[in-house]
Amino acid sequence: MINIILFGPPGSGKGTQSIKIAEKYGLVHISTGDIFRREIREKSDLGIKVRSFIEKGELVPDELLIDILKAAMVKHHDPKGFVFDGFPRTITQASDLDKLMEEMGLKITLVLVLDVNEDEIIGRLLKRAELEGRSDDNEDVIKNRLKVYRDETEPLIRFYEEKKLSEIVDGIGGIDNIFNNLCEVIDRY
Ligand code: AMP
Repeated sequence: MINIILFGPPGSGKGTQSIKIAEKYGLVHISTGDIFRREIREKSDLGIKVRSFIEKGELVPDELLIDILKAAMVKHHDPKGFVFDGFPRTITQASDLDKLMEEMGLKITLVLVLDVNEDEIIGRLLKRAELEGRSDDNEDVIKNRLKVYRDETEPLIRFYEEKKLSEIVDGIGGIDNIFNNLCEVIDRY
């Protein structure tokens, strides 16, 4: 089994690349952001709970995350592995994930860190705002999401570096180029 965390700031291409990785290696793609957006569309209790956090560019409280992730994982019978996209985003979530993986007899194989500088990211997110109209892609919310990323999520790079699980991959360039860079690393594992 191969379990990959794809890690990077908002707008780094995590979503696009993790779908491609899941397809190529036959893995299950789990995006907590996609799960939340679906719940919001369906106006479920969870959707109603998380909506205002997402619209402000804040993180959804940690205690809501691990059960959602577990539910998304156990739905799949005998998976070849998982690609986690947008999870974990805090140290608490990373520790919760460690516990969950242990409980399930699984291990994180690799944490791929997409390296993209901030100017590039702001440009990409503003462009996505025009194209997709995501409600959390306007300029103020984008700035807040980047701040939240720096303050709460970036420290995870060290967390996984210490566990010797992280690999930094250049996230600038065309989609296929970046994908090839990611696959090169995955193929070494
Ligand atoms: P994403 O599509 O991964 O950029 O996620 C969109 C939004 O969903 C984020 O800005 C957060 O508000 C929320 N979200 C997604 N994943 C998480 C997570 N692991 N922890 C907390 N909030 C999350």
